[in-house]
Amino acid sequence: MAELRLNSPLQYVKGVGPKKAAIMAGLGMTEVRDLLFYLPRRYLDRTSVTPIAKLRVDEPATIVGVVKAHGILHGRRKRYEVIIEDDTGGIPLLFFQGVKYWERTFKKGQIFAATGTVGYFMGLQMVHPDLERLEDEGDRMIHAGRIIPVYPQRAELSKAGLNSKTIRRLTTFIFDNLTERIPDYLPPAECRRQQLPVLDEAIRTIHYPDNRDQVEYGRRRLAFDELIRFQHLVFRNREHKEKTVKTRTYAPPGEMLGGFKNNLPFDLTSGQKKAVKEIFDDLQKEHPMARMLQGDVGCGKTVVAVLSALYIAENKLQTAFMAPTEILAEQHFRNWQEPLSKVGVTAGLLTASLKAAEKKETVRRCLEGEIDILFGTHALIYDYVSFNHLGLVIIDEQHRFGVQQRGKLYAKGDNPDLLVMTATPIPRTLALTLYGDLDISTIDNLPAGRQPIRTVWRATDVRDKVYDFIKDDIAKGGQTYIVYPLIEKSDQIELENVEDAYRDLSEGVFKDCRVAIVHGRVKPKERDEILGRFRDGEIDILLVTTVIEVGIDNPNATIMVIEHAERFGLAQLHQLRGRIGRGEKQATLVAIAHQPISDIAAQRLKFFISCTDGFRIAEADLELRGPGEVFGVRQSGPLEFNSVRLSQDRDLLEASRDLLRRLFQEYNSLDTDYRSLLDYLNKRAAQIDHTLGGG
Ligand code: ADP
Ligand code: MG
Repeated sequence: MAELRLNSPLQYVKGVGPKKAAIMAGLGMTEVRDLLFYLPRRYLDRTSVTPIAKLRVDEPATIVGVVKAHGILHGRRKRYEVIIEDDTGGIPLLFFQGVKYWERTFKKGQIFAATGTVGYFMGLQMVHPDLERLEDEGDRMIHAGRIIPVYPQRAELSKAGLNSKTIRRLTTFIFDNLTERIPDYLPPAECRRQQLPVLDEAIRTIHYPDNRDQVEYGRRRLAFDELIRFQHLVFRNREHKEKTVKTRTYAPPGEMLGGFKNNLPFDLTSGQKKAVKEIFDDLQKEHPMARMLQGDVGCGKTVVAVLSALYIAENKLQTAFMAPTEILAEQHFRNWQEPLSKVGVTAGLLTASLKAAEKKETVRRCLEGEIDILFGTHALIYDYVSFNHLGLVIIDEQHRFGVQQRGKLYAKGDNPDLLVMTATPIPRTLALTLYGDLDISTIDNLPAGRQPIRTVWRATDVRDKVYDFIKDDIAKGGQTYIVYPLIEKSDQIELENVEDAYRDLSEGVFKDCRVAIVHGRVKPKERDEILGRFRDGEIDILLVTTVIEVGIDNPNATIMVIEHAERFGLAQLHQLRGRIGRGEKQATLVAIAHQPISDIAAQRLKFFISCTDGFRIAEADLELRGPGEVFGVRQSGPLEFNSVRLSQDRDLLEASRDLLRRLFQEYNSLDTDYRSLLDYLNKRAAQIDHTLGGG
């Protein structure tokens, strides 16, 4: 009988030979502890498995069934098709990649669980679902009302025969022979206070739950851990900021700013003025600013950011202004270079697609302090970019960047001031959680004279009428975007694509109009040239994919048509809509939905046409999709929320903030186990080398 400890090599576990051990080591698992923390990613039971006859298009589902037939299909693209059947019906699973591998994987009569989104191509199908081979026993367990954990599938593991079933066997052996419990860094008193299991219990429960409630009980404990680690960093950033004193001071706003404002073609809105004042006040304080500027699409955040950069330039310091796409970075540069130069401020642009010589020259000028405001993309964070005296970092559409990227840019200065911007308004509780280390300025009104965008939802059969409407509008001087979900025809999914549409429309119904096309595969240079011409009114209709989603600005665009609106998320639809109605003319958005439309999609569209308030859209989106997607938490690397479900874990979130407050503010009066919790968190944070952007 083996006596196992948490740090025993995995080879001591029965069933793990040298070969399996080597493969697990390749995935970072060498000790018993590592395997215990390799957690199921979902569970199968009667409530989570959908009978095939009940599948609905566009909805995610897990099915369990028997392989009835499988083989290669030759079409426009070679693919592997597997027919899976349960008592209620059958459905094809399709694999376009790894045909050889799938050929070896499937045998007639085997039972599989497949999880994916149900697609439609001449009938329901699932493309590249997640697969889990179940033994008959697994199938029976489900029918018997049991709950089966499913582990993340990795190609390497499956090849070594490490499927969910074998992993279950290994963890059973481990728990039977483990001579110690998993130590907990959370004080037992805190677990009781939060009604959460201690770590050892949580881990056991998660591997071997008896029912869904137990899964949830264990999950909440791990979620709490993730929240504490995250909040710890937020608190640490705050504390760091409060301790940091800037070596630079800013004079009160001067003439440059005055001159610049006088040259603007508009007056600032009250919301913009308020934001500018908050930012300027903050900049004059002795601690570095860490501020988020939020406001709905089109409210005019850019000019506020540019004024801030100008203020920094007045004080002889530089600004780095980072945007998520080349189109956007170039647009900012093009829009602001001239007005800035009029007051003696030099702007520069750095993106990956510039010629090497241009890049080199820009980098040199920046280093020598000849550039005051450097606009750019991710290119700004490359190692070869340095500043002479960086005073302010501005990050546009900040949720598009990962924590590390923001941190890297930040590190190019000596505790520079920070302004991050987002058009995704964040409900207050969440903002506190995710950005508790940032102060927030909100622009809550749109520039005057904007008319609300008329939004309608139409079926495909009225397309001709929509096209007539576009032609009438062009005759009156308007411009149109038509948005498509795909660049070119796909045989995986039946969707309109921008290339075919361009051919059909520019030679057909719109042959007398000036039509152009832009998508992600158009070369940046050409793309800019086209967008520039569109902006200058030389193009009537621009056919696009979602490359235009972020920030593109043409105040004269009056109509947007979105093909397959049923496929887009709420926030994305709202962002797209933000591209029109930026001037004073009435703008119209036509969301064209193609059958079949899922219930969720119908709900989304109904909400979308009835609401133009970005705040309410963000909240609805949060309910429908969860915050990972909405706020880019996913991208935050070591801070990934795997167990947290922010929409249902608000209590844990408050509790984690409360705990951290105690740790930071009452450290000296805390019990030793609470102190060691903070020490543990500090040590961990030091390893992550993290800057949330707050400094
Ligand atoms: P966002 O907040 O979405 O980044 P932008 O900064 O791109 O919005 O501004 C949207 C449009 O509104 C731009 O064309 C900009 O020039 C214009 N704009 C900004 N502020 C005002 C204002 N105060 N009055 C009129 N138009 C404005
Ligand atoms: Mg913007």
